[in-house]
Amino acid sequence: MDNCIFCKIVNKEINSKIVYEDDLVIAFLDLNQDCPGHCLIIPKEHVLSLHDISESVLNHILKVANELYYNFENSLNCDGLTLLQNNGCAQDVKHFHLHLLPKYLKKPDLSVDEIYTKIITK
Ligand code: 5GP
Ligand code: ZN
Repeated sequence: MDNCIFCKIVNKEINSKIVYEDDLVIAFLDLNQDCPGHCLIIPKEHVLSLHDISESVLNHILKVANELYYNFENSLNCDGLTLLQNNGCAQDVKHFHLHLLPKYLKKPDLSVDEIYTKIITK
């Protein structure tokens, strides 16, 4: 889809810090880290919202979210994880995305580069 920033990330036309990729999905660090390790998982195919995504891709995204949750526990020592998914007027980027927000009893003081290195080397 032309002019979709997340399609450009999928096509590597825009740089992002990719933490996971397979044939169906890609996960990368959110530009604005609401918490250390804040990531987005998106389908490679352009779909708008929860109304549009197939059940099989949605299931796959949840499986990848669970794998990344294990990764965040090991790499960032997070104590919990919030999943967030915005649609309609709540959604800024009009390409389906699931936010992964690691939660901490004591927030680590890490730069984005340190966070990225820890995640991708686990
Ligand atoms: P929404 O409000 O649509 O659920 O959230 C969109 C998210 O995409 C925001 O958290 C925003 O920081 C993130 N975002 C927007 N543009 C970019 C980008 O070019 N690169 C990355 N890594 N994240 C982006
Ligand atoms: Zn798109």
